[in-house]
Amino acid sequence: MPVTAAPDLQAIVDRIAGEMAAREDRGKVADYIPGLARVDPRHFGIAVTTHDGKVHAAGDADIAFSIQSVSKVFALTIALGKVGDALWKRVGREPSGNAFNSIVQLEAEHGIPRNPFINAGAIVVSDVVLAGHEPKEAIGEILRFVRDLAGDDGIGIDDEVAKGEAETGFRNTALANYMRSFGNIDHPVDQVLGVYFHQCALAMTCRQLARAGRFLMHEGQHPDTGFNIVSPMRARRINALMMLCGHYDGSGEFAFRVGIPGKSGVGGGILCVVPGIASIAVWSPGLNERGNSTLGSLALERLAAATGWSIFNQREPG
Ligand code: GLU
Repeated sequence: MPVTAAPDLQAIVDRIAGEMAAREDRGKVADYIPGLARVDPRHFGIAVTTHDGKVHAAGDADIAFSIQSVSKVFALTIALGKVGDALWKRVGREPSGNAFNSIVQLEAEHGIPRNPFINAGAIVVSDVVLAGHEPKEAIGEILRFVRDLAGDDGIGIDDEVAKGEAETGFRNTALANYMRSFGNIDHPVDQVLGVYFHQCALAMTCRQLARAGRFLMHEGQHPDTGFNIVSPMRARRINALMMLCGHYDGSGEFAFRVGIPGKSGVGGGILCVVPGIASIAVWSPGLNERGNSTLGSLALERLAAATGWSIFNQREPG
């Protein structure tokens, strides 16, 4: 078993934030839309919520950023709640080894995306979330869900980012149309993408994001209400998907260096879950060549080393 919560987490996150502030190798901020391109690369934030309800934060932990693909975790949770394991007939559970927005595998695999965290898979998930709703209602459901998980009604959607996604989303449109040709998208493509682009545009702080991930460290239970968001088995499986598919085609490297289930987004955020111990969010907008936050990944590597929280750990840190 991994070790329990390290004694001085605040000192650890303060030290990590100090180290990150001094680093110059920050990677490159996503620039495909203005709402992301203008974010200052000097930001770094970290928030760690532990099983006992405490939050340890440092740096820019209270500045909202675009969570982008981290939202795929929450949308997947909603979709599983709606259709249960039937989802797995339409989306796979294997790492793709291709870029997050790749179309190549879809032809050979008959319109069934490899996993729910690549764009094609997330678009199928949006199609499931949309069922029985108008797009606005589906977007509202995702927003309410995330607010409820975090216990924070201050969370919103950045409309400018959503608009930018729609204006530049040619490849996502292609993916959706292609899957529709295989019968794997039920609703009009513009509506499905409307849901997808708005979920990507959720704006959250590290503190809010770490809180929203708590149910995944608590075996699927909402820590504030005690209600099951998902069953313990489903929480385990979502964590497994994050471990294997959460960092685009850099997932192996992240497991190797950090060893904690996590999902990253091109806004520079990463949500990590240490089952039974902690939910962690980091943010730094500069990305590495695989599209994952450069300093966010490094900070998590430092945190895992200092706490012994890699899920592959068998002993006390030392
Ligand atoms: N909105 C982005 C896209 O679909 C998501 C990018 C990401 O964070 O992976 O292109």
